[in-house]
Amino acid sequence: MLINDECINCNACIDECPSNAIFAAGEPYTLNGEEHEAPSDEFTYIVKELCTHCEGYSDEPSCMTNCPSDAVEDDDNFFG
Ligand code: SF4
Ligand code: SF4
Repeated sequence: MLINDECINCNACIDECPSNAIFAAGEPYTLNGEEHEAPSDEFTYIVKELCTHCEGYSDEPSCMTNCPSDAVEDDDNFFG
């Protein structure tokens, strides 16, 4: 999943992600116990390694269905 530049940083998707894979712009993330700098200071972002494609939670990507701005893309075509 990928957040594009249509994002208005409302951060609604952060609360909707069951995997805590979404972070606010500029906020660092932790992966395998290591802290990493945010890949974007401009837009909310998804850490692919943490995304579980909402498996067992929703049949559709929760981040995508809850985004008011059509800013989330399924760049891996996981949901077809
Ligand atoms: S819900 Fe959409 S507009 Fe809001 S922060 Fe997430 S990607 Fe950006
Ligand atoms: S598809 Fe689901 S698990 Fe992956 S980032 Fe979006 S809300 Fe989180």
